[in-house]
Amino acid sequence: MKWRDVVLSALHRFSIRHGTRSIDRQSFLLEERNAMINEAGSLGHTPDQTVSRVLQELRDERLIEFLGDGKYLLLDSPLQAEMEDLPDEAIDLAIKHGKLRLGDIHADDVIALRRCRTGQDRIRALTLDNYRGRCALCDVQEQGFLRASHIARWTDNIEARANLHNVISMCLIHDALFEQGYFTLADDNRVLIKTTASQTLTVILTQHTRYRPPKEFHPEPQFMRQHRERINFQWKSYAPQ
Ligand SMILES: [Zn+2]
Repeated sequence: MKWRDVVLSALHRFSIRHGTRSIDRQSFLLEERNAMINEAGSLGHTPDQTVSRVLQELRDERLIEFLGDGKYLLLDSPLQAEMEDLPDEAIDLAIKHGKLRLGDIHADDVIALRRCRTGQDRIRALTLDNYRGRCALCDVQEQGFLRASHIARWTDNIEARANLHNVISMCLIHDALFEQGYFTLADDNRVLIKTTASQTLTVILTQHTRYRPPKEFHPEPQFMRQHRERINFQWKSYAPQ
């Protein structure tokens, strides 16, 4: 077997044995060194150095991430938030790499609910940071008025619940206007406004709504299309701002 495959399968064994994606390098080497040497079929003079090199390659491939303090996070497949307690830093890495998933939790499963809530808190924190702590459509920046609004809804797209390209920082007003289809965004992020809104809402939509792009994770057109579909978007009832 190639060293890369040997190390990867040893990481899986370790992860399953300890019930965590967080892998302590020292314990890993201690427990898996002999098995890896056997599988690689070569004694080699410096197996630890070989493993270090392979771990670096796996990092370059984004299959593992360094967590600091001698620990790695195994990210070669999606990570279910409800499966284990992980530090915020690990959850953030999983979210930023599009690897965190949030399942549907039974109301009695207190531990899973708590873990899921932690995941949601991290999504909110990263979303607000992505939009510089402001509503993407106006300048409201009071934390209590800001929401991490999903473009494709929580219930409609399970896979995209923790996808930062599917979440926009919005104030309560813009969140409600977006949710109820008073405005949407085109594929190029132009704001499209419902022309049949009341006078008061039209003032908000025309004079107090300006889309400001985020730092890094932009809304993905595929999710915007899902939003437009959900609100029965038709060009005859909407106008570009
Ligand atoms: Zn706003």
